[in-house]
Amino acid sequence: MKVFYTDHFVLPLPEGHRFPMVKYSMLREKVAASAICGPEEMRVPRAVSDAEILRAHEVGYLRRVASGTITQKEMRRIGFPWSERMVERSRRASGGTLGACLAALEDGFAANLAGGTHHAFANRGEGYCVFNDSAIAARAVRAAGLVERVIVVDTDVHQGNGTAAILHGDTSIFTFSIHGAGNFPFHKEESDLDIALPDRADDGEFLEALENGLERALEESRADLAVYLAGADPFEDDRLGRLSVSKQGLTERDRLVLESCRERGIPVAVTMAGGYARSVEDTVDIHFRSIETAATLLNPEKGSQNGRPGWRP
Ligand SMILES: [Zn+2]
Repeated sequence: MKVFYTDHFVLPLPEGHRFPMVKYSMLREKVAASAICGPEEMRVPRAVSDAEILRAHEVGYLRRVASGTITQKEMRRIGFPWSERMVERSRRASGGTLGACLAALEDGFAANLAGGTHHAFANRGEGYCVFNDSAIAARAVRAAGLVERVIVVDTDVHQGNGTAAILHGDTSIFTFSIHGAGNFPFHKEESDLDIALPDRADDGEFLEALENGLERALEESRADLAVYLAGADPFEDDRLGRLSVSKQGLTERDRLVLESCRERGIPVAVTMAGGYARSVEDTVDIHFRSIETAATLLNPEKGSQNGRPGWRP
């Protein structure tokens, strides 16, 4: 399976910063050491262009970010210090999701080892999100005439507020977010389908709601491509998430999303989104299992013993 990664994803941060930046390089090592993708399938994503970013963002915001004239206040809301490397990282994280979309259209599944920056709005960023990779990638594949309709399936514990706002009224891209009602953002935007779960919702509650939501969203969207945000933060031991989903429950989530799409012939680009477990190994493990689940469905002979036929677009 093709997997997109670059060391640009690992942004140097000030001492004591709470964002677990190391998860990206750890995840890359874990994927590289597995049979999921051969060396030639590990791809370096390109940086998305201004024109590609402008399909999802306002020109003034892009200019402020790119030139470093963005205000301190705007950067505090994003949560990273501004640097050239931060800009390059943000462009390449979107490039990874776009690359995974294109690879998924060929192969059925592909993954970006970053992305899922769903709190980025057209004119501002927040919550560690600068550019909205899902919106940029979905609009790029649409503009290239490769697909008619896209669905964004966002299972990160935080609502995909930026994605919902940017794509509001865009009938070609369906937005589905399942998240913790009590989690940031406290003002929720309107996705095409939102499911807000109560604090401490467990595996049973999460998976039942997801299954119902997926059925409705996939039916209504009639999508030819899915961008799947496999956030690791609905996990029971996450520092920020207010839900109580186990690792096994999250793997079941992956299987549910990926199999539901495959049954309908919808290729899936998997992106990582958030993850703030007390132990960063847990976050990396959850992200790894999402990728492994996709790879197993793509190449059953390499992974699982269930003997299902491979995905055919
Ligand atoms: Zn999150």
